[in-house]
Amino acid sequence: MSEIKNVVRRLCILGATGSIGLSTLDVVRRHPERFDVVSLSAHSSVDTLLAQCIEFLPETVVMVSKPHAKELKQLLLDKDLGHINVLSGAEALEVISQDKSIDTVMAAIVGASGLMPTLAAVNAGKRVLLANKEALVTSGAIFIEAVKASGAQLIPIDSEHNAIFQCLPIEAQNTPGYCNLSENGISKILLTGSGGPFRTFSVEDLESVTVEQACAHPNWDMGQKISVDSATMMNKGLEFIEAKWLFNVEPEDIQVVLHPQSTIHSMVQYKDGSVIAQMGNPDMRTPIAHALSFPERIDSGVEPLDFFNTPSFEFQAVDYVKYPNLKLAIEACKNGQGACTALNAANEIAVDAFLNKKIKFTDIYKINETSVNKFVSEDVTSIDDVMNLDNRVREFTRNLLTQYDTQDISDNMNRDNH
Ligand code: NDP
Ligand code: MG
Repeated sequence: MSEIKNVVRRLCILGATGSIGLSTLDVVRRHPERFDVVSLSAHSSVDTLLAQCIEFLPETVVMVSKPHAKELKQLLLDKDLGHINVLSGAEALEVISQDKSIDTVMAAIVGASGLMPTLAAVNAGKRVLLANKEALVTSGAIFIEAVKASGAQLIPIDSEHNAIFQCLPIEAQNTPGYCNLSENGISKILLTGSGGPFRTFSVEDLESVTVEQACAHPNWDMGQKISVDSATMMNKGLEFIEAKWLFNVEPEDIQVVLHPQSTIHSMVQYKDGSVIAQMGNPDMRTPIAHALSFPERIDSGVEPLDFFNTPSFEFQAVDYVKYPNLKLAIEACKNGQGACTALNAANEIAVDAFLNKKIKFTDIYKINETSVNKFVSEDVTSIDDVMNLDNRVREFTRNLLTQYDTQDISDNMNRDNH
């Protein structure tokens, strides 16, 4: 144990300017003696990345957007930080995530854009802290095979999967993706979800909900895409697929349980009737701190649960009429990789259209369903297949959007709501 304590982890944070990236740096800030921030990435958030450069003095940063990278470079020169190397373009993400001088990668880019740099980190045998669930959804077995082949250490960040990880025996923790849970005495994974901001809405009410309502999660403060996914419960669907791959279980071994308070982050049911749960206040700094320091524990800045002021725990079954996207994702999980890759790509396009007020909230499901049905039987056995299918689904889904009333619907929705 004393050996572990002296390790200074050399970090690459992909998606440093997002919700998970900011929480990661908040934990890192509390433990300067334990972590060296070597590289950071963003897509186009110049001001946030500049502030992070000033505070954490990384060696290299990637700004994917070239014009924004140019702007950042100039601002760094103005601050006498011209020695920080600024790279641009999506390929540069892979350069920093597999760089020899780092040992740990926080994979916190949103969407399928996170797949290639995360996979590069895996192939380089890094310790990979996986927030980017879309990587596993789009490439499942291919990703896990890469983990197995390289010996990379995979630690889940998604609060549910991190909770499940914490409830598993050590042997299973050391082999995520290829552990045998049944041999370890486990009979079921209980994946909890709050039901999002529309849990108490009627199905009819969902027709006219706004972007602002969808992004206002009752318990968690997150990026926009995952907030909309939480409102449709597609997030739980993506997490269902993520759990299948991370814990090497069949869809029948995973049960979704609605738990509106988000205090229990998920549970593991053992054959002898024991159910082990992980609890805490809903703050991503807890799973992030756990993964950053595993197997040690460090302060995350999160207040401990106050049981005397915690609302009572409720549990409910899922209403799939209200949350058809969750059902679609569970079916995709059963149908195979083609369906999952297609589901993720279609959903990214549909959620983006909703966020830009081009379609209604309830259209997200219609678009996802049509796209998944079209591509359900596609064979996906390599990363090239994944990228190829991802591109074709995006094109198909964009065309599909033109059949919807894609003029700005915000006026209509505003009228509906008054
Ligand atoms: P955000 O939208 O807050 O942040 C996304 C990050 O990725 C930003 O740094 C953004 O840069 C960068 N980015 C966006 N698009 C691209 C692109 N095309 N190429 C490279 N970088 C890009 O997302 P979250 O932090 O909420 O989520 C990140 C991941 O973690 C997602 O996969 C999500 O599902 C998962 N997750 C998030 C949780 C949360 O609480 N937020 C909980 C569990 C999982 P820029 O700022 O410049 O746009
Ligand atoms: Mg989650």
